[in-house]
Amino acid sequence: MERNQERAEEHLDKYEILKKYFGYDTFRNSQETLIDHILAGKDTLGIMPTGAGKSLCYQIPALLMDGITLVISPLISLMKDQVGSLNQAGIHAAFLNSSLTIGQYYKALGFAREGRYPIIYVAPERLMTEEFLDFALNSKIAMVAVDEAHCVSQWGQDFRPGYLKIAEFIEKLPKRPVVSAFTATATKEVRDDIIDMLMLRSPLVLTTGFDRSNLYFGVVTVRDRYAAIQNYLRMHKEDSGIIYCLTRKQVEEVCERLIKDGFSVTRYHAGLGDAERQKNQDDFIYDRTPLIVCTSAFGMGIDKSNVRFVLHYGMPKNIESYYQEAGRAGRDGEPAECILYYSSRDVITNQLFIDNNQDNDELDDVTRAIVKERDRERLKKMTFYCFTNECLRDYILRYFGEYGSNYCGNCSNCLTQFEQVDVTEIARTLVGCVESSRQRYGTTVIIDTVHGASTARIKNYRMDENPYYGSLAQIQAYRLRQVLNHLQMEEYLLVTNDDYAIVKLTAKSKELLEEGRQIVMKLAKESERPLKEAQDRGRGRKKGLPGGASFTKQEETLFEKLRALRTEIAREEKVPPYIVFSDKTLTHMCVVKPEDKQEMMTVSGVGEFKFEKYGERFLACIKGFHR
Ligand code: ADP
Ligand code: MG
Ligand code: ZN
Repeated sequence: MERNQERAEEHLDKYEILKKYFGYDTFRNSQETLIDHILAGKDTLGIMPTGAGKSLCYQIPALLMDGITLVISPLISLMKDQVGSLNQAGIHAAFLNSSLTIGQYYKALGFAREGRYPIIYVAPERLMTEEFLDFALNSKIAMVAVDEAHCVSQWGQDFRPGYLKIAEFIEKLPKRPVVSAFTATATKEVRDDIIDMLMLRSPLVLTTGFDRSNLYFGVVTVRDRYAAIQNYLRMHKEDSGIIYCLTRKQVEEVCERLIKDGFSVTRYHAGLGDAERQKNQDDFIYDRTPLIVCTSAFGMGIDKSNVRFVLHYGMPKNIESYYQEAGRAGRDGEPAECILYYSSRDVITNQLFIDNNQDNDELDDVTRAIVKERDRERLKKMTFYCFTNECLRDYILRYFGEYGSNYCGNCSNCLTQFEQVDVTEIARTLVGCVESSRQRYGTTVIIDTVHGASTARIKNYRMDENPYYGSLAQIQAYRLRQVLNHLQMEEYLLVTNDDYAIVKLTAKSKELLEEGRQIVMKLAKESERPLKEAQDRGRGRKKGLPGGASFTKQEETLFEKLRALRTEIAREEKVPPYIVFSDKTLTHMCVVKPEDKQEMMTVSGVGEFKFEKYGERFLACIKGFHR
């Protein structure tokens, strides 16, 4: 335990470690509480949104505890990233996973036995292997920290059977270590699962607010999604961003078109080979290509902190997925934008996903039916997100059981002018059509009927003979759908959760037909407005400075120079640029324009170790930019 002794001699406290190794002056709200509990030897479960700083909550105690901390992490890329960051900060850490050759693995394990690493990242599947157990049972394990702990839950998106072994592993250890778990998934089922499956002992469960105030949320409904996205990208040329698509095919199409239109972009989906996936992901992380078009397969384990926007070319299957994917924007706390480009076809695509879900093969029929039902319900809530007139942030927070304010001022709804529109006539027609066709058809048939479409299906069902056929031909179909959604939200109509998604009447439907009953909806004045807003905002506040200030021309130049230096260093060190310094740190440097070490050390994210390594080069770069 030579390394541990060395550490004990240093006698640093948690604040000194925060400053020296990580370069930060203060802990964020819940970090300190969690750290103190861990140091007091108590189990903890920290539920904090992406970018909140969960890693520090176990890394700092790991440096203060007597013994080794094992961090369980689901993905190789995550481990590499974290260990890379720690090494850059001057902390000895290693990972043990299948990316190592046998030789490398034994070498790392040998160093681990000698106590060289206070922090070791390990894949869950390794825990119960003979060699690893031999090491663990003969070492002093102070803490087991489970990152991305929701992977233990079958209800979650990212279930990993390997996580179920963690509790068994802990039981085997001669002395039970402190167990800490961390996740960004807030739902109650998942939280309960984590506590049960990891066998946490009366843990402190700390949930911090899920709001990510630096993220702008927007929903855009336009006919030509591609044009809209292309437009957005043109306005954000220097920024790094992710474009999520629903299917592999869509990824291929969008990526190809963007390349043709002159964008530097790469792609990622499960259909690509391992090598290509890895390469494309690295190109994005190392800022070689600023844009990536991908399916939901991309992202877990992407800690790239300078993602400035996440666009969704299509609506994801539920709010959990959406918030997780959108949340990959702005991890550095700087302003970033999350925009969902909606089309009604997305609902159908997602319904197909739910119906063909193969992940649940191990479940029995009854459980599978429950899961399906639940998925449909979640899809419905996601769809409502695209139609709500309320504050989008508030909608999301309420979904996770939190209460936001009704007005955030930083989402497309809060920033859009609404008008009250009387839709009583449309509502009555829709209800009438549902009733007269004896509640047998789905939303599309109903809308096509009142809109007077002459599709094969309409003819087949003889809906062209329905008394309401074509009675709302002059109203645009998307508007009809908005009203139908509104009626569903307000429970004037109900759409069944089974395979057919049939529109039915409810107890409230009759009220609609009563004399004097009025249905008023808030609708956006111009449908193009949210897009335009987003663009203007993007231009107006490029770098997020306190008080909404923006860079001077000179500071812009300095920022670019610092960024270039960062890229150069990242190449030398073979790490992603954001691991050298985050965008936030560079921004802060531009404002402070430090002249010497002392001033440089006041910049957020500059610690002792990093200063020794690169401080002088950055100081030299800043020279000449002082007033
Ligand atoms: P999470 O795992 O919760 O998504 P990370 O641990 O990856 O988040 O941290 C996100 C970012 O926040 C990192 O760039 C990290 O260095 C930074 N960070 C963490 N704690 C602090 C702090 N106390 N002050 C400033 N920045 C911090
Ligand atoms: Mg994390
Ligand atoms: Zn809002």
